Amino acid sequence: MQAIIDQVKARTPGEIEFHQAIQEVMEAVRPALDKNPAYRKAKILERIAEPEVVTIFRVPWLDDRGEVQVNTGFRIGMNSALGPYQGGLRFHPSVNLSILKFLSVEQMLRNALTTMPLGGGKGGADFDPKGKSDTEVMHFCQAYMATLFRHIGPNTDIPGEDIGVGAREIGYLFGMYKKLQNEFSGAFTGKNLSWGGSLMRPEAAGYSVAYFAAEMLATRHQRLEDKRCLVSGSGNVALYAAEKIIELGGKVLTLSDSDGYIYDEEGIDREKLAFVKNLKTIRRTRIREYVREYPQASYTPVDPRLNYNPLWNHWADCAFPCATQNELNEEDAYHLINQGIKAVTEGADMPCTREAIRIFREKNILYAPGKAASVGGAAVAGLEMAQNSMRLEWTRDEVDSRLQSIVKTIHQNCVDVAAAHGAPGNYQIGANIAGFLRIVSAMMDQGVI
Ligand code: NDP
Repeated sequence: MQAIIDQVKARTPGEIEFHQAIQEVMEAVRPALDKNPAYRKAKILERIAEPEVVTIFRVPWLDDRGEVQVNTGFRIGMNSALGPYQGGLRFHPSVNLSILKFLSVEQMLRNALTTMPLGGGKGGADFDPKGKSDTEVMHFCQAYMATLFRHIGPNTDIPGEDIGVGAREIGYLFGMYKKLQNEFSGAFTGKNLSWGGSLMRPEAAGYSVAYFAAEMLATRHQRLEDKRCLVSGSGNVALYAAEKIIELGGKVLTLSDSDGYIYDEEGIDREKLAFVKNLKTIRRTRIREYVREYPQASYTPVDPRLNYNPLWNHWADCAFPCATQNELNEEDAYHLINQGIKAVTEGADMPCTREAIRIFREKNILYAPGKAASVGGAAVAGLEMAQNSMRLEWTRDEVDSRLQSIVKTIHQNCVDVAAAHGAPGNYQIGANIAGFLRIVSAMMDQGVI
C-alpha cells in the first residue's frame, strides 16, 4: 500500500492536496483490499489514482476596461465506471491540478455512495469572480465554455456548482453551451428552476449535512435539537446546512468567509439567516456586515499569524466545517474537544486535516467525512437528471423526502460497511469502502480499459 502511495507521489510531485486525498482513501479501503486479493492483481488502486482524462486549456477574455485577461481552465474526468463524469466547477484563484484532482477523488466516491449511475469528475479555473462585474463573469464563463463544450454532454460529463460557481455562473455557462451545441440538454446540474433545474438543488448539499449529523447523533441516542453548532463558511453548503440545523432545532452560533467569522451567542435564527443569504447571494458582500445589523454578535477577522481558527474554539456540541479544504487542523481539533464537541460533520470537501481526523477518532468523537455527509448535492444532481430525462418536475416536498431517505440509506450503508470491515462506528472507513466497492465492481466487469 505504501509503495503505491509513494509511486503516486513520485509521479505527481507537488500535488499535496491530491496526495492527501489519495492517502486517506487508500488507507481507509485497506480492509476491503485484504478481503479481495483480486483487486490488487487488477491494479485497482493504481488505476483509481490516475484520472481517466485531464483537459487543461487557455481562457482568454475581455474585462470591463477592454483589457485582455488570461486564465487557465481545467476539467478532470476521474472515473466513469458507474456513469458519465459528474462534478462541480470551482472558480477560485487557488485552483490548480492538485486541488481539482483531490476534489475529483472525493466526488467519484461521493457519487458512488449515492448509488446513482454517475462517475466522478471536477473542473474549474483560477478565475476569481469576487469583485468582478456581472458582465465580466459572463465574458469569462463564455470564454471558458468555448473550449469546454467539446468535452461535456449528458452522456459524457456533467458539470455543476462548487466554490465560486453558483446559479449565476451556471446560467452563463449553460447559455454558451446551448448555443455552441445547438441543443438544449440536461448537460449541467444546478440549472435554474425555470429552465430545467430541480427544486431543492441549491439546498441539497447543505441539507444533507444536517440530516447526516442527525442520523449520526441518533446512533448515540442524541438529537440535533438544542445542540450548539459551529458552522464555517457562508456559501451554498454552509447557508443551507445552517438552515436545516435551525429547522431541526439546533442553535447555529457562527458563520464565516475568507476574511473572518461572526459569533452570535443568541443563535442565528431564520430571520438572521435570511439577512446573510441576501448579503452573500444578492449584495455579494462580506460576513462582517452581520454585526452592523446585529450588534450583539462579534466579528473576528482572520489573523494570518495564528495557526488555528478561533471559530473552532467556542463551547459547542457539533461542528460543521463547510468552507474549504484543510480549514480545521490538529490544534482546532483539540480546541473543539476541550469545548465539549460531540460530533464533527464535514460539509466541505476534506476540511479536516488527517491529524484532526485522527484526534477525533482517538477521542471517540462522531466524525463524518464530506463525501458522505454532503452527498445531497450529488444526490439531487441525479434527481435533476432523472427529472430532465422524464421531462418531469417533482415538488419540493417530494425532492426533500427523497433526499432524506437517500441520506438515511447512505448513513446506514456507511455504518454497515464499517462494521463488516472490522471498524464499527468509523464513518471514514465505511464511506470510503462503500463507494470504492461499487466503483471497483464496475471496473472489474468492464475489463482493463
Ligand atoms: P461557495 O463558493 O458557495 O462558498 C464557499 C464559502 O467558503 C464562502 O463563504 C467562502 O468565503 C469560504 N471560503 C472559500 N475559500 C476559503 C478559504 N480559503 N478560507 C476561508 N473561507 C473560504 O462554495 P460551496 O458552499 O458550494 O462549497 C463549499 C465547500 O463544499 C467546498 O469544499 C465544496 O467542494 C464543497 N461541496 C459543495 C457542493 C455544492 O453542491 N455546492 C457539494 C458538496 C461539497 P469567501 O466568499 O470569502 O471566498
